[in-house]
Amino acid sequence: MFQSFIAKLLPKFPESFVWKFSKKYIAGKTIESLLKKALEERKKGAYTTIDLLGEEIHNITEAYKFFHLYEELIPQLAENKLDVNVSIKPSMFGLKLDKQQCYEMYEKILEQVSTYPNGFVRIDMEDSSYTTLEIELYEHLLQKYPRHVGLVIQAYLYRSHKDVVELLEKYPEQSLNFRLCKGIYVEPAEIAYQKKQEVRDNYLRIMKSILKRGGFVGLATHDSWLIEETQKWIKENRISRYQYEFQVLCGVKENLKQAMIQKGEKERVYIPFGERWFEYSTRRLKENPRMVNDIIKSFFTS
Ligand SMILES: Cc1cc2nc3c(=O)[nH]c(=O)nc-3n(C[C@H](O)[C@H](O)[C@H](O)COP(=O)(O)OP(=O)(O)OC[C@H]3O[C@@H](n4cnc5c(N)ncnc54)[C@H](O)[C@@H]3O)c2cc1C
Repeated sequence: MFQSFIAKLLPKFPESFVWKFSKKYIAGKTIESLLKKALEERKKGAYTTIDLLGEEIHNITEAYKFFHLYEELIPQLAENKLDVNVSIKPSMFGLKLDKQQCYEMYEKILEQVSTYPNGFVRIDMEDSSYTTLEIELYEHLLQKYPRHVGLVIQAYLYRSHKDVVELLEKYPEQSLNFRLCKGIYVEPAEIAYQKKQEVRDNYLRIMKSILKRGGFVGLATHDSWLIEETQKWIKENRISRYQYEFQVLCGVKENLKQAMIQKGEKERVYIPFGERWFEYSTRRLKENPRMVNDIIKSFFTS
């Protein structure tokens, strides 16, 4: 209750204060700060995917600014021997404002990324008003760049299992690449599971369907129960280690991530950076008011 109250209040706090706790979860504002953070993760044995912050855009000119930043970033990832792996939110490229230009921006980024052997673009999944639009975008990009593009699936949506199975059956020749997460947006009971265990059960169901049909899955969760269940099933079913990896958000459950790496699991860290860090931080906080504990700690440690 107290935590939710603080989470709601935080957007009204000065940015310098919010930065105190956000810096754990975000690389910084610039490409330089991002490269530094990604290299640190690399040294710790993790793989990375990079997210440029900024969701709500108001016109297509703004979308092009973000597009050019991605264009600038990609060769620098390669020069620094980092993964050329980026996550992009379709709303940032104006999917609902101008579908054609959004498609063109993704295509141009994919053209650039696909010149690197492991170059990869992940289409981040947004709220449910985007689900169908994003699946269509994914199918479009899949035609030309099957090895370099992947989609996010949210386990809290009732429709997700059907969506995944339909895609896998429609493209049996390709090893489709999904990131599976619980889902971050607040969605109503008409379309989404509300109970924690229901979301977990659907997560496992979707994970099994992807792996049994030969797809690849990035298991994006910090939920220890879910991680153990996935590991158990993967082992029992002798799933190839090339078919999956684990994924975490930067700064979350650092010890768990390092322990997994020590055990030989592949871990990819999602690293956000950019000028729009303030909106990102306050959204994360609303999602998980328990982060308030970190803010309170920062009063005493700084
Ligand atoms: C790599 C990655 C990419 C993602 N991409 C998307 C996406 O494209 N679309 C989308 O809708 N969602 C995305 N998410 C978010 C996801 O949907 C969940 O909202 C989020 O991961 C929390 O769910 P959980 O499975 O970790 O389980 P939870 O039960 O929520 O978390 C388990 C434990 O992890 C810790 N924890 C989890 N999240 C945080 C946090 N933010 N800060 C501090 N501690 C935390 C807490 O200790 C918590 O008890 C992504 C998540 C990851 C890891």
